[in-house]
Amino acid sequence: MYNCDVKRMEDKITTFSKFGDAGHGGITRYSLSPEAIQARNEFVKRMEAIGATIETDDLANVYATIAGSDQKAKRIVMASHVDSVKNGGNYDGILGVMGGMEVLETIVAENIPHKHPMTAMIWTNEEGSLYPPAMMCSGVVCNDFLPEAIGKKFKLENMLKSKSVIDRTTTFGEALDASGFKGDKKNRLSADQYKAMFEIHIEQGPILEDAGNDVGVVTCVLGMFNYRIRFYGQADHAGTTPMHKRQDALFAAAQALVYLHAEIDKLGRPELVYTTGEILCHPNVHTVIPDLIDFSIDVRHEDPKVLEQVLAIVKSLETKEWAKCKCDIELAWARDTVYFDKELIAITKEAAEENGVKHQFINSGAGHDAQFASYMIPTTMIFVVSKDGHSHCEPEFSTPEQCTAGATVMLNAVLKVDAK
Ligand SMILES: [Zn+2]
Repeated sequence: MYNCDVKRMEDKITTFSKFGDAGHGGITRYSLSPEAIQARNEFVKRMEAIGATIETDDLANVYATIAGSDQKAKRIVMASHVDSVKNGGNYDGILGVMGGMEVLETIVAENIPHKHPMTAMIWTNEEGSLYPPAMMCSGVVCNDFLPEAIGKKFKLENMLKSKSVIDRTTTFGEALDASGFKGDKKNRLSADQYKAMFEIHIEQGPILEDAGNDVGVVTCVLGMFNYRIRFYGQADHAGTTPMHKRQDALFAAAQALVYLHAEIDKLGRPELVYTTGEILCHPNVHTVIPDLIDFSIDVRHEDPKVLEQVLAIVKSLETKEWAKCKCDIELAWARDTVYFDKELIAITKEAAEENGVKHQFINSGAGHDAQFASYMIPTTMIFVVSKDGHSHCEPEFSTPEQCTAGATVMLNAVLKVDAK
């Protein structure tokens, strides 16, 4: 059993928090922005200092590798992202990169014998905050292994054309060319050259903290569906149309939303989550009765049978009349539950137990690069407790001790995989 170093981890947390510091405790660090390049340069500097070899692939994913005793053995990789959402925190993504660095630094500092080359990796553009979609580069790198519908969404030629949501001109391809980190396609993470992938990530929810645990052994990424629900009314003058003559699409949608919540809650599944996060109103003018409402519903659960029950409720909207308005629904996106590698999960749990780290099994409601990687090579994730469950916001926090506990679990799990 080996331990990672709290002081060294704390130093990394402090340093990386400066790149994109927004001035009130968090960062804005879009992928391939000057701030993200600073973070990448720091990663390279620190990894070169321990003798790691740096490679980049055609998507500017960065790989820092230390040799093992058998140079022909496949690599074991630890990867996450350095980019953030707008006004994000100091832990989402970067913790997994710092965790990989910390594992390599510990192996080198303590001269820990190992057979396989070990790689710490940065995935480019996980958040997709500036160049959508999220998980872009793992979607491209693992493309041949993904289910067809998902693979289609992440074709390289389309990703390169993705435009900045800010200037609406610069493409992701142009940002790649300008980054100084674009390398060779042959360096991509691959099934031939890599034995396993680990990703440390903050939990981004309250479950570990509520249970008094520091680390989560992640079993799966929840299956989900996202439907668009539309209501069609009649646009008329807000001042001249009597209430009983109206076909108000927004009033219809409001009633339908309350109905959805009531019916879904009747299923009695506390672990089921569903969200209406987006709503479009036409014409969205205060003097006009709305004639079109289009809203999203995002539903997540591990068990496909539960998702089917919710889908039946969503579909029942179409069979009813809502304030004299018609309703139709359309599938926008769905994915099955992605289970991580059983052996890696067992090894990770064993490592947590042996090192006395308080832990539990947990699933991931959020998407991560590891879920795409898992279609290609054995992969798993380790969650670190998030204070008050906050994430994708500036109050994101985990203590240096908790972050280091996550790295220690990964270090010992990686060494167990190395010994196999
Ligand atoms: Zn993340």
